[in-house]
Amino acid sequence: MTICIGLSGGIGSGKTTVADMLKTHGAVVIDADEIVREVQSPGSPVLAEIAEAFGAEVLDTNGALNREALGSIVFRDPEARGRLNRIVHAPVIGEMVRRLYTARDQGEDLVILDIPLLFEGQQSRSGAAAIIQFDATVLVWAPESLQIERQISRNGYGRDEAERRVRAQLSLDEKRAMADHVIDNSGSLDDTAQQVAGLVEVLVTQDAR
Ligand code: ATP
Repeated sequence: MTICIGLSGGIGSGKTTVADMLKTHGAVVIDADEIVREVQSPGSPVLAEIAEAFGAEVLDTNGALNREALGSIVFRDPEARGRLNRIVHAPVIGEMVRRLYTARDQGEDLVILDIPLLFEGQQSRSGAAAIIQFDATVLVWAPESLQIERQISRNGYGRDEAERRVRAQLSLDEKRAMADHVIDNSGSLDDTAQQVAGLVEVLVTQDAR
């Protein structure tokens, strides 16, 4: 039987690091961000719908999506954000489910759905969390101070910008209360790798919850 796990975190908490570790244990990782980029690729029907809804200024000169331009429209306007979600969510979730079925058909033991806003979606009953039945959810947790430090060193953000981005999301402590399993990524990478190995053991040998 294929075990289907929802994986999430917060900005800079280490979700990608943990997803990569899970791959070394043979898990299939389905990456929601990657699918979003794919369904919005140049020439796609989704990108045409986005351009129709928000105007040609959200495209760059090569006909690709200008994420900055679209982001600046939807970041400030919840109505526009809703319109974008209505265009993008269904094809993204459709592709995630298609990949999940393929993995299941191929007899994969462990499939990880890596979804940045998984817990926000659970809370508002929207997005993938409203459609896909997970056997369990996993949160990659780190203290807010580390989320901020990692963004400063990884993205080169100033402290104010890093703090603003962290505080725009549901806090990791709120998400922690919703998750079935928590990976504490506040220590060394070795420490995290040990927790991941333990989690895989629990997921594949016991009831996932
Ligand atoms: P985002 O969702 O913002 O892309 P993320 O949750 O996927 O972030 P990662 O990209 O995995 O986070 O990690 C953020 C940064 O912190 C990376 O540069 C990564 O190498 C580093 N990092 C992650 N975990 C640790 C750790 N335990 N010790 C030291 N550095 C770490």
